[in-house]
Amino acid sequence: MNSTKIRHLYWAAALVAVVLGATVGIRLDSLDVPFWLACLSGCGVANAAVNELDRQIERLGLTTYACRTPGCDFRARLKAPSAADNRRWQEAAAAHPHHALPRT
Ligand SMILES: [Zn+2]
Repeated sequence: MNSTKIRHLYWAAALVAVVLGATVGIRLDSLDVPFWLACLSGCGVANAAVNELDRQIERLGLTTYACRTPGCDFRARLKAPSAADNRRWQEAAAAHPHHALPRT
């Protein structure tokens, strides 16, 4: 994903977060919640939404390598891996030293 598209996603995420925070603040204000508390709650919701959307956007640029054995939770995520890293982590996911299988 190119940087312009990522920047647009960040701006869209920030806009969604601000709208969500303002909506929560306005709804709380209409319930006779003190204005300062509604503002703080709206800012908290906006901050949480920005963080979550930022995390989701960050995940879009990651490549995940996971063990295919059912029940094994080995997983590695790399940002823009090179061809050598790609091969190394594919091999690691296919044959890593231990499998964390759930006990039966
Ligand atoms: Zn495994």
